[in-house]
Amino acid sequence: MMCEMCGKEVPSTRPVYIEGTNLNVCPNCARFGEGNRNARGGNAPAGPSSAILQQRLERRERRMNPKNIYADGRDRIQLVIGYGDVIKEGREAKGMDIEKFAASIGEKKGIIAKVEAEDLTPDDKLIKKIEKALGVKLTEIVQGGGAIGGGTNNKTMTLANFIKKE
Ligand SMILES: [Zn+2]
Repeated sequence: MMCEMCGKEVPSTRPVYIEGTNLNVCPNCARFGEGNRNARGGNAPAGPSSAILQQRLERRERRMNPKNIYADGRDRIQLVIGYGDVIKEGREAKGMDIEKFAASIGEKKGIIAKVEAEDLTPDDKLIKKIEKALGVKLTEIVQGGGAIGGGTNNKTMTLANFIKKE
């Protein structure tokens, strides 16, 4: 399971109520939750932890709203060309077959097989999961305005290279 605050893979998460949101978090992050009544005072708990909490929530925000990346700047994130091979090589480097790898990140074997064959575009969450598990990079940030709308100066790209975010 993935901690919704720090994004770590952990054996179990627990639901906590943090800053008006219910999150499933790892034991380490659970201490930020409001289950901790003795540290209350109307505001966020004092000390550096509230800054850390803020950071983590912002990070989570970005994860949950990948569209913001597009909205607030010209940079775009896209899957690297040949991402299927990158995954396959990373997986083989770890000595795992598809089944084993899929199980290790809690995905179905068929999903991973399709992603490796590039028959399926992994969503943001799956991309992150695979990157973390294999220590590979599946996306790249492409800079420059206008390319997504006009695309005149970028003939080598096809639409299929862009991550679909629906
Ligand atoms: Zn956590």
